Amino acid sequence: MNLCDIDVIRTVLAKHGFHFSKSLGQNFLTDSSVPQRIAAMSGAAEAGNVVEVGPGMGCLTAELCRLAGQVVAVELDRALLPVLDETLAEFDNYEVVQGDVLSIDLAALCQEKFGDGHAVACANLPYYITTPAITALLESRAFDKITVMVQKEVAERICAAPGTAAYSAFSIYVQYHAAAEILFDVPADCFVPRPKVDSAVLQLTPLPQPAVETQDEKLFFALVRAAFNMRRKTLVNALGPVLGGALGKDGITALIESVGLDPRVRGERLSLAEYAKLTDAAAERLKAQQAAE
Ligand code: SAM
Repeated sequence: MNLCDIDVIRTVLAKHGFHFSKSLGQNFLTDSSVPQRIAAMSGAAEAGNVVEVGPGMGCLTAELCRLAGQVVAVELDRALLPVLDETLAEFDNYEVVQGDVLSIDLAALCQEKFGDGHAVACANLPYYITTPAITALLESRAFDKITVMVQKEVAERICAAPGTAAYSAFSIYVQYHAAAEILFDVPADCFVPRPKVDSAVLQLTPLPQPAVETQDEKLFFALVRAAFNMRRKTLVNALGPVLGGALGKDGITALIESVGLDPRVRGERLSLAEYAKLTDAAAERLKAQQAAE
């Protein structure tokens, strides 16, 4: 059965009385080369174990079943369970777990299903949970690779370099934890129903250690968030809400200058390494100030 053939999709879904839910981000693939390429590039064959998010009708699940030893697919919509029973009937190496990927403990799921074996994550993600789903997949620390289809603009934002319009706090968060790469673009015409925007397949390879070292990870992300909350402001002004109480504006100016930056620079121009340097210098100053009090 070609699970990307539009006639097959319509016939099977009609038989089960299934209707697409916009609110669940249900856009199914209609070009079979796309799930084939995603599965081939996902590392599923090498790792042997896969967690898929949102199997839908199972077109990507089937490709993963062909390459991996075991596939666990997490699907929120109960109405798709009987559909998957039919479309994946030829495979015996998959299991569908009904639930919300955002409330499942992914590390515990991998431990339960795969023991200490290697695993990768793979998905054509529902757009409405892109950011929290990527965060949950990264924070589980359960995957050698995470290969997800997302809106093209989001993929570009995640991979963006300092100083570009697409660079954001989420770019820094992801690049802190993983190497990020866009594998290929997928036009909106490759889905039913057709979404408004194009997509891209993004691959994240979690790093054994964060991309940069900092004394205080919480402070690092607090500074990043503050800088991007007010991205049009100069760094000295943007950091006010986090450091102003302790250091004052003059103290923040001195801090920024101490790491070789211009206080008038905007936070969107700083690299991860510069944020790490700024964090360590800030942590030292805060410590010294506390000791003096
Ligand atoms: N993999 C299929 C494909 O490529 O054609 C379907 C992808 S569709 C973009 C997203 C899928 O995620 C849908 O099946 C939807 O029901 C499911 N989904 C939506 N929200 C979810 C959630 N919170 N947890 C798990 N699955 C979810």
